[in-house]
Amino acid sequence: MDFTLSDEQQMIVDTVRSFTERELFPHEALVDKLGKVPPEIAEQIKKRSIDAGLYAANMPAELGGGGLDTFDVTLVDREFGAASYALHYIVARPSNILRACTGDQIDEYLVPTITGARVDCLAMSEPDAGSDVRGMKCSAVRDGDDYVINGTKHFISHADIADYVILFAASGEEQTSRGPKKLITGFLVDFDTAGCDVIDGYNCVSNRGYHNMIINFDDCRVPASKILGEEHHGFDAANEWLGSTRLQVAAVCVGRARRALGIATEWAATRVQFGQQIGKFQGVSFKLADMQARLDAAELLTLRAAWNDTQGIATDSDMAIAKVFSSEMCQFVTDEAIQILGGMGLMDELPLERLWRDTRVDRIWDGTSEIQRHIISRAMLRPFGG
Ligand SMILES: Cc1cc2nc3c(=O)[nH]c(=O)nc-3n(C[C@H](O)[C@H](O)[C@H](O)COP(=O)(O)OP(=O)(O)OC[C@H]3O[C@@H](n4cnc5c(N)ncnc54)[C@H](O)[C@@H]3O)c2cc1C
Repeated sequence: MDFTLSDEQQMIVDTVRSFTERELFPHEALVDKLGKVPPEIAEQIKKRSIDAGLYAANMPAELGGGGLDTFDVTLVDREFGAASYALHYIVARPSNILRACTGDQIDEYLVPTITGARVDCLAMSEPDAGSDVRGMKCSAVRDGDDYVINGTKHFISHADIADYVILFAASGEEQTSRGPKKLITGFLVDFDTAGCDVIDGYNCVSNRGYHNMIINFDDCRVPASKILGEEHHGFDAANEWLGSTRLQVAAVCVGRARRALGIATEWAATRVQFGQQIGKFQGVSFKLADMQARLDAAELLTLRAAWNDTQGIATDSDMAIAKVFSSEMCQFVTDEAIQILGGMGLMDELPLERLWRDTRVDRIWDGTSEIQRHIISRAMLRPFGG
């Protein structure tokens, strides 16, 4: 593995970094304070990211996307990751699972989502089914050529600005040696479909301005043509395409931690107490060394997972290792950065306290740290019959 960037990759990194600093950083404090992104700012960022060719970087070039492979998308996510996710999100990264679209779904969902005409969101989690996602109760019952959907999804990110949801619902049950197992099907459901209601979710300490919503389905009727992938095989499509969302979390954490470490390093080099720079006290300088070491390790694990994915050899464990290590690294780095700044670290004059708050969710969404450790340890034990 050689992670030396080509000239083209370096240009992508430089472009995204300067876009992030110029177009996203200036709005962060306002968005955090308001708890929302003012529509005119959202429009401006969206337009400028489309003009700069940064929108939907993960999608195929022949359909209007950026055409970047997983490794290059990870570099992009790392650079955007330094900014507030509420703003970063606007430079859309449509869900990779949309690549499972076929037939009319391509023109109706995939292409307009790539061009920015439509926005997707994805719904698996329910009040009684979080980590145990297969325990979902939201059901899709076949009725002629349609499915009738009933149930509730919650914690659904940016459903307030989305036009449709990639929904996973229980469509049946099969008997296995371990007992009955729910069969899950993916659907594309427009928010203007009768019986589908999006309502306000909860206020979250992380990523203020990036909202999670509740979606209620009450006898919501969708035609079979809205199935994404194959009936009863929703998790096959999810497993094929959604590993990359864990990688995105890892890359964002690396970008965010790098920004926090930059602020802390500069502070340690310039803040004077007891007649000398505080960075000369071992109690501070060793913190910096530990932060740098963990950041480098997280970055290498993230790039390894991305590189493996690009080679078609990534395992679930690669993604899980990158996600769990990077999210925990980012919590450590942002927390230590605040310690190095002392009281000023907690004040909203600087972005540190926000970076610290924002990264708390990274150990929870897209699979908690505990679930990532299950994935990693299961893969280790499996060859021994575990
Ligand atoms: C802000 C936000 C946005 C989100 N956006 C989306 C979205 O867009 N779409 C979507 O579908 N979901 C979304 N989620 C849901 C997210 O994926 C879940 O929160 C996550 O999977 C954990 O589920 P839970 O919160 O119900 O916790 P639970 O599953 O109830 O877990 C509670 C605790 O128990 C632990 N635990 C559970 N099972 C085990 C086990 N087997 N072994 C060890 N420990 C275990 C967990 O690790 C955790 O510490 C979002 C969540 C948040 C907070």
